[in-house]
Amino acid sequence: MTSIDRLSPLPEQFASDNYSGICPEALDYMLRANEGAAPAYGNDIWTEQASNRFREMFETDCEVFFVFNGTAANSLSLAALCQSYHSVICHEVAHIETDECGAPEFASNGSKLLLGKGENGKLTPESIASIATRRDDLHYPKPKVVSLTQATELGTIYSIDELQAIKEVAQQHKLRIHMDGARFANAIAATGHSPAELSWKAGVDVLCFCGTKNGMAIGEAILFFDKALAEDFAYRCKQAGQLASKMRFIAAPWLGLLETGAWLKNAQHANRCAEYLEKQLLQLEEVEILCPRQVNGVFVELPQAVIESLQSKNWLFYTFIGSGGVRFMCSWASTFERIDRLVGDIKEALVTSRGTYALR
Ligand SMILES: *Cc1c(COP(=O)(O)O)cnc(C)c1O
Repeated sequence: MTSIDRLSPLPEQFASDNYSGICPEALDYMLRANEGAAPAYGNDIWTEQASNRFREMFETDCEVFFVFNGTAANSLSLAALCQSYHSVICHEVAHIETDECGAPEFASNGSKLLLGKGENGKLTPESIASIATRRDDLHYPKPKVVSLTQATELGTIYSIDELQAIKEVAQQHKLRIHMDGARFANAIAATGHSPAELSWKAGVDVLCFCGTKNGMAIGEAILFFDKALAEDFAYRCKQAGQLASKMRFIAAPWLGLLETGAWLKNAQHANRCAEYLEKQLLQLEEVEILCPRQVNGVFVELPQAVIESLQSKNWLFYTFIGSGGVRFMCSWASTFERIDRLVGDIKEALVTSRGTYALR
């Protein structure tokens, strides 16, 4: 018996899509890339093919780069759009503000994030305009970029109309548009729009497309739709320690996701699971849905006793959203059977805490 055999399996989880393992398609291509040797630092056939696949999928000749994680993708791409005295307008709950430990400012040598507002995690054109026009003197960091998360941190989606309205404001104020696509695949799956429609056709200059949450072990793609913005970007990645020497092991799984269509299948499955969970939770009177569910996360308010009961049964989920706010996140690996068990435990906890639970 090895030490690995003794590790107990992870408890059931709805914490995050990055708790899940590697999907079969990504793993298959990773293993295929492991046959023999290949040139290092991205000069291999896998990297070339994966990059070309992205160009086909987005219907444009974009510049493609691969880095290890989302924080690096966001931070380095924002740094490529900004001088240190510039600023980036983002939503107050944006991952770049709340969950990247200041990496965007660090990578850009100080480009400041300016926080905007909007319902359900979505920046409004009005909020962007008000920040962009707040000051025009040189004592204020000059707004240069709008950063949008698609799908948002609260599991909602910017519609094409909303993106168009933001694009107009951005053009008016000479702002570039960066998109944090940690769950871009889920947004595509939910809307049925093409990747092009939801990115460069809607004014996005740079997209960080997340592979990790979609089913890879490691790896994000950065797509520059305005190729001029990618000048010297490879140097930036190298200096930041984000140039993988065995690049093929990031690129090959990407190719696996794109070539087999697993990227979309995985996102559709995760969205469907969340929809199924939401449907069941909506029937329980004591459960409040906090945001309209549009992708693979369900945001609800639960009684504290229920939260504690679920935690005591080793269910994993995030509770960082306000008071009583719970996030259940589904992934490519979620199962309906597991969701049924989660809902069963929620019902049981409601019975215990209130004597009964009421159906709507
Ligand atoms: C997960 C996530 C990222 C990437 O996070 P890393 O841990 O750095 O890979 C970026 N943005 C959003 C909105 C995310 O949910």
